[in-house]
Amino acid sequence: MDNMVKLIAEELVIACKRAYKRGIQTGSGGNVSARIPGKDLMLVKESGSSLGDSTAEGFVITDFDGNMVEGTGKPTREAFLHGLLYKLCPEVNAIVHFHAPYAIGWASTGKYLPRVTWHSKLKISEDIPVIDIPSAMVREEDSPLIEKMFMDNPKLTGFVLVDHGIVAMDKDPINALHNAELIEETAQVAILKELVGKLGI
Ligand SMILES: [Zn+2]
Repeated sequence: MDNMVKLIAEELVIACKRAYKRGIQTGSGGNVSARIPGKDLMLVKESGSSLGDSTAEGFVITDFDGNMVEGTGKPTREAFLHGLLYKLCPEVNAIVHFHAPYAIGWASTGKYLPRVTWHSKLKISEDIPVIDIPSAMVREEDSPLIEKMFMDNPKLTGFVLVDHGIVAMDKDPINALHNAELIEETAQVAILKELVGKLGI
């Protein structure tokens, strides 16, 4: 791993630890990745370890189909989704994926997650798509659904998978993390607003 790739891995580690500390991801779930500049390759988290224990050495390099190029661990089984997004979105350099409780809670409605705060309206161009994929991971046959979502909104910075979690992306790991945090915060507020409405306060 050269120095530039190591620096990117260190940014991914910061994103992992922050997501874990905030409880957006607990246990050993979730994964993150970054594009290796100028190459059709990505740095992906190894499977099995907790985001809270991430280290720069806990990443492997694969191609966009998830085939190992460098490293000893096993890439996350969700590498297919990460690779697909890098292929579809040339401006995206980092992707984070968390099993975030409020976003998953909202996604059970099957409705787009509305931008219920001024901050979310400022930062996110359209309400956040919720996609129902009947599998624990996005598979090749699910690609058309993901492609259509980006055709409908090329500026998309994140979406939610039903019963699964948030996928957020941006030009670097920290901004991708911010997008995921904003989606989780928006889902939390959306649920609270629904509950307050039902209480008739
Ligand atoms: Zn997942």
